[in-house]
Amino acid sequence: MNVHIDSAAKGVFIGNRWRPSHSGRTIDVVAPADGKVFAKIAAGGIADIDEAVKAARYSAEEGPWSRMSAAERGRLLSKLAVAISDRAEELALLEARDTGKPMKQARADIVACARYFEFYGGAADKLHGETIPFLAGYFVPTERVPFGVTGHIIPWNYPAQMFGRTIAPALAVGNATVVKPAEEACLTPLRIAELAAGAGFPEGAINVVPGLGEEAGAALANHTGIDFIAFTGSPEVGTLIQIAAAKNHIGCTLELGGKSPHVLFADADLDIAVPVIANTVVQNAGQTCSAGSRLLVERSVYDKAVGRVQEKFKTLQAGTPEMDLDLGPVINAAQQKRIEGFFSRAAEKSIPVLAEGKIATGVPEGGYFVAPRIYGPVPRSNELAQEEVFGPVLSILSFEDEADAIKLANGTEFGLMAGIWSKDGSRALRVARQVKAGQVYINAYGAGGGIELPFGGMKKSGHGREKGFEALYEFSTLKTMIIKHN
Ligand code: ADP
Repeated sequence: MNVHIDSAAKGVFIGNRWRPSHSGRTIDVVAPADGKVFAKIAAGGIADIDEAVKAARYSAEEGPWSRMSAAERGRLLSKLAVAISDRAEELALLEARDTGKPMKQARADIVACARYFEFYGGAADKLHGETIPFLAGYFVPTERVPFGVTGHIIPWNYPAQMFGRTIAPALAVGNATVVKPAEEACLTPLRIAELAAGAGFPEGAINVVPGLGEEAGAALANHTGIDFIAFTGSPEVGTLIQIAAAKNHIGCTLELGGKSPHVLFADADLDIAVPVIANTVVQNAGQTCSAGSRLLVERSVYDKAVGRVQEKFKTLQAGTPEMDLDLGPVINAAQQKRIEGFFSRAAEKSIPVLAEGKIATGVPEGGYFVAPRIYGPVPRSNELAQEEVFGPVLSILSFEDEADAIKLANGTEFGLMAGIWSKDGSRALRVARQVKAGQVYINAYGAGGGIELPFGGMKKSGHGREKGFEALYEFSTLKTMIIKHN
């Protein structure tokens, strides 16, 4: 695959300039499709993060970025959207090489990334305050203002999309940003930061410091110079982020994954539901926070529905990005091993494998491929019904009636998304309104989709909302002015 690696792996990107990390250390970048090292990224640390935060502080308070009007900021975001679109194929190749995902998925991710900058470019000058009736002789307006410097720690599953999703709204409201992308895959965020400088973003508005989570990530989360932090990743690290935010008395958003259910009633249209359900758990090899990884089926239609899902799964194939099949490899050997751990524990408990897809012939030996799998019936308390596998694994369970469906749908610690499938509109709505999840689809499901749609968790899936106009509130704070006049 012909990929412009050099333009993405030049070091840390601070104040619109590249330089090596202070330590001079680097991290090997491994292609998940063949397990081979194909690039090196800088291993940023405390000193690099400190410099990035200072550059952002200057940008937020003194530099040209701080003096720009909302419309000017919006125009820059829109220009970056165009710059990303203009280089869509180059970026998709980079993303596919770095993450292993099929080219069609990588292309869709770059379109989504550009769309974040487009959406928030248009929204930047549309966030306004209110006036509040108060005592006679007073005039009280409110204004949405940026925090100042926002920190962003993002995961490896959708590097380009996550970069757009987290910084575009923060920039739109006038923050300067410091991003710590994931060490497993961060070439597109680095490249897009460079494109942003080319599009005219003033120095310090966007800083990207790659590095290990426990070094660069911890340094950013604990830095006393940031005013807000947005994190997407595991619940364990989410706890550390929230503790660090608490120590610094700053706010945070946490998006910590899910175990999102599809609730399939007997009257659902299986022709529509089955392909969507299968896709939502194999998309990105199941490495999607909002993957629909539990299928809850009304008992009266269990055999028929499961049969249809089995047929679909048997056709699914994992391959390299160029093969462009249903899914790619998982991100690394550790993740592959983790998924296989679920498989061996399920075998110990004799949980039936209902169907398995294939790994395409001809994939490189060193690639981290996992064939998609369905388990069922999975006992309600089993880890396959409770824990996020983050792999192409669907767990099927059955329910008796509407009340049982709701109980089961809400029966995990997570609450990110849900899909309700039924032709009875009233029932679908009744159930949807009782499911504890940040987004609930009816007769549809979009894992990771919808730039316009507020997204985030309830329960252990986290708090705060990204995407949509809502993210502009999340990344800004409110100032109230109390003005007395005669
Ligand atoms: P995953 O298990 O899916 O890799 P993580 O929560 O470990 O999810 O990683 C998500 C992001 O958090 C990555 O950018 C990673 O480098 C970062 N990270 C990991 N550990 C820490 C930490 N101790 N402090 C701050 N960030 C971290």
